[in-house]
Amino acid sequence: MIESIGAVRTEPAAGSPRRREPVLEIRNLNVDYGLGDDAVHAVREVHLTLHRGEVLGLAGESGSGKSTLAYGATRLLPPPGVIAGGQVIYHPRDGAPFDVLALTPKQLRAFRWAETSIVFQGAMNSLNPVHKISVQLTDVIRAHTPGLTRAALTARAAELLGLVGIAKDRLDAYPHQLSGGMRQRVMIAMALALEPQVVIMDEPTTALDVVMQRQILRQLVQLRERLGFSVLFITHDLSLLVEFSDRIAIMYGGRIVEEAPAAALYRDSLHPYSHGLLNSFPALRGEKRELSGIPGSPPDLRAMPRGCSFHPRCPKAFAPCATHLPPLGPPPAADRAGNRTVACWLHPTAAPVG
Ligand code: ATP
Ligand code: SF4
Repeated sequence: MIESIGAVRTEPAAGSPRRREPVLEIRNLNVDYGLGDDAVHAVREVHLTLHRGEVLGLAGESGSGKSTLAYGATRLLPPPGVIAGGQVIYHPRDGAPFDVLALTPKQLRAFRWAETSIVFQGAMNSLNPVHKISVQLTDVIRAHTPGLTRAALTARAAELLGLVGIAKDRLDAYPHQLSGGMRQRVMIAMALALEPQVVIMDEPTTALDVVMQRQILRQLVQLRERLGFSVLFITHDLSLLVEFSDRIAIMYGGRIVEEAPAAALYRDSLHPYSHGLLNSFPALRGEKRELSGIPGSPPDLRAMPRGCSFHPRCPKAFAPCATHLPPLGPPPAADRAGNRTVACWLHPTAAPVG
């Protein structure tokens, strides 16, 4: 449990019968690589809320800032990454919300794994090749729950493997004796070891084949329903998010440019970039789409275009796009129903987020 750290005032959730309670609120987060004039502004003024029990997908091309956002929000940013501003408000199961960016190193150690865990890109290759799976799982449990007997540790490790569909006799295996899919499942079991409220998955299945990817993600969604954690799921493959997320946020050039319920985004994306991304991947389900891709390349973060950073590639760009940055906010009611935001002059907002 984290020591008390000065509560942060938070907005009440919308007063609907199914109140959506926030668990992690990213507010106006800015992350740079380096300092001064040479700094790369990798994440810009990001507002994003993960709700309890929800799978929130984060998509965007390579270099759009997805991993930087996740690592910045959890204080796992490697140098030369620096948080240039913002707050990340975490809502524990019990107690007052607090700002993760204000935690001391000791508080941060307690916070990691126990409250939030991450499955990194290529995590399955980060299992230690010289230790059995049992040792690697029990090490994680022991580090945060000292005093458990050896038998209790092994029983918990077996239970965790069971959660991800691996028989307990595999506890005695070394990583090289498991398939890629099984190794990735072991990493997910580790991430769930301390029953965190938030699991961040950064391209968790990219290295696996399409069938295995979907098997693992289906299992994760079932576990989420049983155990009640929330998932921030990062990928460049929007078709995966459409299948497995409740909501989807799209990043471009370090900013969120659209956020919507997954089905609404798939049916009716508002931002031309989201539309382009959706038309870049074949969907396994739903109606067929013609794959057209997105012309041009992602922007150079050191020399961002003025106005809307997507304008040099946007098929719908018009007069204000090259000079004025469109704010993120709910589109006009006449355009679409609520519960979504977009940053595009085609849908100018009257109530910018933040
Ligand atoms: P990918 O899907 O390829 O992981 P991403 O959307 O997660 O991409 P990030 O890895 O967050 O993007 O990178 C965002 C931007 O920050 C990129 O333009 C990248 O070049 C830049 N960046 C990342 N790490 C560093 C670093 N150590 N030093 C300088 N710039 C960096
Ligand atoms: Fe395209 Fe303009 Fe919308 Fe940007 S603001 S996505 S350039 S139409």
